[in-house]
Amino acid sequence: MTAALVDGKAFASGLRARIAEAVPAFVAAAGRAPGLAVVIVGDDPASHVYVRAKGRATREAGMESFEHRLPAHAPQADLLNLVEALNADPAVDGILVQLPLPRHMDEAAVIAAIDPDKDVDGFHVVNAGRLAVGAPGMVPCTPLGCLMLLKDRLGDLTGLDAVVIGRSNIVGKPMAQLLIAESCTVTVAHSRTRNLPDLVARADIVVAAVGRPEMIKGEWLKHGATVIDVGINRVPGEEEGKTRLVGDVDFASAAAVAGAITPVPGGVGPMTIAVLLRNTLVAAHARAGLAPPE
Ligand code: NDP
Repeated sequence: MTAALVDGKAFASGLRARIAEAVPAFVAAAGRAPGLAVVIVGDDPASHVYVRAKGRATREAGMESFEHRLPAHAPQADLLNLVEALNADPAVDGILVQLPLPRHMDEAAVIAAIDPDKDVDGFHVVNAGRLAVGAPGMVPCTPLGCLMLLKDRLGDLTGLDAVVIGRSNIVGKPMAQLLIAESCTVTVAHSRTRNLPDLVARADIVVAAVGRPEMIKGEWLKHGATVIDVGINRVPGEEEGKTRLVGDVDFASAAAVAGAITPVPGGVGPMTIAVLLRNTLVAAHARAGLAPPE
């Protein structure tokens, strides 16, 4: 392996520590802790693991965590009423509705019901629009975390060629917007893209957000490229009945060519919750009429 390892776990823990340090000043100025409400509908075990982790991280940062559980069969109106109540609750700065929702619910309608200024996931169309026009707003946590890792590693990104593989609303598209704002030259690839290896070969920065295990090969990469692997894929492990996590990038071959690469796990994953806390703190400051934290 020649690539440097981009240690998202360490970066995220530093970010969480800085957030925790900033909370007491907010409490002193606002007379209350920043509050994050997390809503979960149904019994998806993975979602419950995420929600518990988010609640724990919120409390560790000195913020207030409000957790709301609705049964899988709850009517959509119950969820919309809860979101309305959280919108109106002065103790709540951030609202996160854990996705995916049960199939009888319309995710877009639920996201649209969240007050955009409390939309710490950054999924509301108002926040997508703010990001597209370069106005301040809530930025989706995973791509913002990727950008933080890139800037920490590379400094100024101006003029660099970036290829984002994936065009989802939660990762690929906002990632592309963030890189455009950093003056990168951005190519967005997706399932209909032709000659993906040729595009990747030109890139100084490769962000993979596809959901296909180890699809991007080291042979495709430009020597020295910085590779951010967003993918989280569970595949059969070497031992019978065991599984392991891999990214969208074939780590072994990529690490031999790249200049730097995020591991899976321990790369982008830990950044998502850290940025969620950061977004909550930013939302809290804005709602209290205070200048944004450093
Ligand atoms: P989506 O399934 O919503 O989007 C996947 C994207 O990849 C689509 O745009 C799709 O193209 C594109 N794609 C699919 N196949 C190919 C292909 N063969 N070649 C090129 N592009 C392709 O996934 P998400 O964006 O939600 O997530 C992507 C990955 O990131 C997943 O592994 C997910 O688990 C992980 N993830 C990790 C997070 C973290 O915290 N680290 C947070 C969020 C996601 P098209 O649009 O044409 O269908």
